[in-house]
Amino acid sequence: MKDKLYLMIPGPTPVPPTVMNAMSKPIIGHRSAEFADLIGRVTDKLKKVYQTENEVFVLASSGTGGMEAATANVVNPGDKVLTLNTGKFGERFGEIAAKYGAEVDEVKFQWGYDIDLTVVEEKLKANPDIKAVFATHNETSTGVENDIKGLGELVDQHQAVLIVDAVSSMGGMDVRTDEWKVDIMVSGSQKALMLPPGLAFVSVSPKAWKVIEQNNSPKFYFDLLKAKKSLGKNNTPYTSAVSLYNGLEASLDMILEEGLDNVIKRHKLLAKATRAAVMGLGLELLPAQEYASDTVTAIQCPMAVDVNNLRKTLLEKYNVMVAGGQAELKGKIFRIAHMGYATKTDVLLTIGALEMALNKCGYKADLGAGVREAQLVFLGERD
Ligand SMILES: *Cc1c(COP(=O)(O)O)cnc(C)c1O
Repeated sequence: MKDKLYLMIPGPTPVPPTVMNAMSKPIIGHRSAEFADLIGRVTDKLKKVYQTENEVFVLASSGTGGMEAATANVVNPGDKVLTLNTGKFGERFGEIAAKYGAEVDEVKFQWGYDIDLTVVEEKLKANPDIKAVFATHNETSTGVENDIKGLGELVDQHQAVLIVDAVSSMGGMDVRTDEWKVDIMVSGSQKALMLPPGLAFVSVSPKAWKVIEQNNSPKFYFDLLKAKKSLGKNNTPYTSAVSLYNGLEASLDMILEEGLDNVIKRHKLLAKATRAAVMGLGLELLPAQEYASDTVTAIQCPMAVDVNNLRKTLLEKYNVMVAGGQAELKGKIFRIAHMGYATKTDVLLTIGALEMALNKCGYKADLGAGVREAQLVFLGERD
């Protein structure tokens, strides 16, 4: 039965039926009063999840489009920027900034570790002319959560604007845009926000607007000043992704009905159970537990096991899809996502299937040992 798929990859993620139904509503005109009302409501709800008073823009693109929009509106050719690379997505910010002509100072931290704030502090002290600092909140490629609060305190004392990628944390983890002093916060639809791929979200602070007003990099669709003018009238410069907006309102309603705090707690619990389970099977996590992500768990593949074979077995025998490693981590790790429309049962099922797949792939996993650890976490017996 091929169509029964347990999608445990870090995006795209499963979309709840309520959201799917909302997207099947008849299309309405994107310049209608009805749609303007929808933009107004969606913006208010999005701000709650973003924990911000800043404007939040909805763009029709994947998450990378949001990263590009942030960069294109801030970076002028020749600007000095600091990019913090803790994995594939942090690296991407550096690549985008370079395309826009920035003089990129990239600090690469070993993948699997988090940002070292003392290094950032030294960089900022030595380079008062840095225009922007780029970082990743939740580094999906390594399963690491970076300390954006600490980073925000450092960058706040500096002229630079702080641009953060929260694509795989927004809607699942605690993302305090204003409290952490993040000037531009980027996220996307297909991760913890429980939507299909196709939307990016970008918030902009007053400090960032001052920089954006001085920007002259080429851009057309991604011009945030144009988007700001339109949003003032609950509108967008070009045709909105009408159906995805309907889905977005439904997913934001689900999050706010469950309560953002409860959603965050649920993700913490699922992550804790997943970590306990894989460790119970004798496997090792890629990152240290203190900064392990709450939406995706990165696990080192045991020596005896071929990652591709493990993933293939999980998919073909048990209909469970997990992710492999990216770039330099290819073949070394696999990743289990537990974000968005994810429950305790999803974790139990995935771990149960993993135990069997590991045995089929040459690793003697103690059957039930991982599931048991997850169950104990869920029963509140592991603190
Ligand atoms: C998924 C993801 C993105 C965006 O990827 P797209 O494929 O462009 O949607 C960016 N950053 C992080 C951390 C991600 O997980």
